[in-house]
Amino acid sequence: MSVRSGIGYDSHRLAAGHELVLGGVRLQSELGLEGHSDADVLTHAVIDALLGAAGLGDIGTHFPDGDERYRGADSIELLRTAAERVREAGYTVANVDVTLVLEAPKLGAARERMRERLAEALGLPADAVNVKATTGEGIGFVGRGEGAAALAIATLDG
Ligand code: MG
Repeated sequence: MSVRSGIGYDSHRLAAGHELVLGGVRLQSELGLEGHSDADVLTHAVIDALLGAAGLGDIGTHFPDGDERYRGADSIELLRTAAERVREAGYTVANVDVTLVLEAPKLGAARERMRERLAEALGLPADAVNVKATTGEGIGFVGRGEGAAALAIATLDG
């Protein structure tokens, strides 16, 4: 058996008139994330980490943003599909860790709900998924409140 790891990174712009969905959890916020799907930046980073670990390309390969099927898509469903493709390629997801970089709002109790939603979509126990958050300390595009970013790592056995 071998162990494989993959990284994922994503960023989206914050703007008025959009929902803020992170890790499959809708948060109260005046600003939301802009994108073709629901712009769930955290889940997108996890998808890329999984696909990367399995050598299956990236989120754009599997769910092209020019494809009308994915307009407003629920990214948790995309994650579910990505995890299926990883299993079909012969791998088992061992764990996922993700860091969200966002100035506001604070995640609070939503962090645990994100963990549970991600774990459920991956078919894993909640303790196989970890969600962390940090801010931009007032600098850069995150610090200025212009957007959010996320970094993820996934480890597979196979
Ligand atoms: Mg994205």
